[in-house]
Amino acid sequence: MKKILNYINGQYAPPIADRWLDNYNPSNGEIYSQIAASTEEDVSLAYEAASAAFPAWSNTSIDDRSAIMLKIASLIDDNLERFAMAESMDNGKPLSLATAIDIPRASSNFRFFGHAITQFSSEAHESVGLNTMNFTLRQPIGVVGCISPWNLPLYLFSWKIAPAIAAGNTVVAKPSEVTPMTAYLLGEICTEAGLPDGVLNIVHGLGPSAGQAIIAHPNIKAISFTGGTKTGEHIARTAAPMFKKLSLELGGKNPNIIFADCDYEKMLAVSVKSSFTNQGQICLCGSRIFVEKSIFDRFKTDFVAKVKELNVGNPFEASTDIGALVSKPHLEKVQSYIKIAEDEGAKILFGGKTVKVPGSEHGYYLEPTVIEVYDDQCRVNQEEIFGPVVTLMPFETEEQAVQYANGVMYGLSSTLWTSDLNRTMRMSKKLEAGIVWVNTWMNRDLRTPFGGVKNSGVGREGGFEALRFFTEAKNVCIKYE
Ligand code: NAD
Repeated sequence: MKKILNYINGQYAPPIADRWLDNYNPSNGEIYSQIAASTEEDVSLAYEAASAAFPAWSNTSIDDRSAIMLKIASLIDDNLERFAMAESMDNGKPLSLATAIDIPRASSNFRFFGHAITQFSSEAHESVGLNTMNFTLRQPIGVVGCISPWNLPLYLFSWKIAPAIAAGNTVVAKPSEVTPMTAYLLGEICTEAGLPDGVLNIVHGLGPSAGQAIIAHPNIKAISFTGGTKTGEHIARTAAPMFKKLSLELGGKNPNIIFADCDYEKMLAVSVKSSFTNQGQICLCGSRIFVEKSIFDRFKTDFVAKVKELNVGNPFEASTDIGALVSKPHLEKVQSYIKIAEDEGAKILFGGKTVKVPGSEHGYYLEPTVIEVYDDQCRVNQEEIFGPVVTLMPFETEEQAVQYANGVMYGLSSTLWTSDLNRTMRMSKKLEAGIVWVNTWMNRDLRTPFGGVKNSGVGREGGFEALRFFTEAKNVCIKYE
């Protein structure tokens, strides 16, 4: 059986303890590979390699770093089909989605930060009258840790690694143990692109062992983490006494707020996508839909009709809109929320049941599920389900829409559908979220700041924000006569 090895100091290697985890194909429930179950010893080796590579890499010219990153990007493009296939098999997402979004975005991340580093500059402040000149040195931090989740595996893994190495750091990275395959394949691409040994080290394994060893390592000075809020809380607690720099991109329960004056057809089509793309397993999905009362019944009917047309099926079929959920435990968690909704007296308008896909009967398939709720504070409206489940609820006024939207512990993104510019401005200022999309969803320009407020995280990534995170600013003050 295929073994997913660590990539340390430019070499693939088995875990020192020779322990392995089963890796499942969610589309059929079969074990198809084994993952290195790394421990603290493997992380130590990865750290040593990264530490040894740091002096040379941090002194490598910006042009040379950039050229290697652009090479990594084009090699990912050259291997698009292979990577997309691996992503889809590991995660259960439609192959069409992995081909159109996940893998191209991973190469864009390397290309973007390969270019961005050539434009990254620092500030100078002349203190007129004091005869001093200040300038800011932005220096790489050293060895940094990057930890990513399973929903957008290579997309989010590269979103962290690319700015980290562009800025001159060396990296110990861990992808999710649920979806390690494309991170594993990335190692050979990095070697082929000429990334010096030790600049990127990839350690596989469970969060509480391999992940824990990264966050607890006293000399890994910064951690960029994307994952669940509970894990983020634990990381913050572990890292705080060591004063590590932290960027935490956490969970969400995002509102999709629909006013009667919106472009209805466009809103309807995009709302189906923002609800169910990637089986609803995107931190940015609009899982709470609030609709102005005057169009609530119309929306309910039209939305459910469109959702019924979605095809749940094998991820490798071109006709599939919704593939498999990522794992059995995750499917069970999502199902448990459908039961909670019923117990809470909400109404399942559509879906809620598992699907037996012919030929893939043991896969983790669930119908897209639409739930009408009667209390915005109910559990299905408050807790992150992270699956193909959305709630619907009407609102009467703009104030009420803001109150509902902000009435959760999360604050990652929000979507607003309206043609009223004044309302757009008023609401954009009031919504508690790191991102407000107006008349669109998941529209990303990689230069923009990305991150959440409240329990959705701390810090911003994206563009120069990421390069700032992965560098330390040092002021140099020169007195002249
Ligand atoms: P998770 O928190 O369970 O795991 C994320 C990563 O952390 C994995 O690699 C895991 O092995 C590791 N980990 C777990 N325990 C650890 C520990 N003690 N120390 C160090 N690392 C540890 O999250 P998940 O289930 O993989 O992902 C789903 C979550 O990610 C959802 O909550 C989703 O909203 C969130 N997410 C957020 C964003 C964002 O940008 N804000 C993007 C995607 C996903």
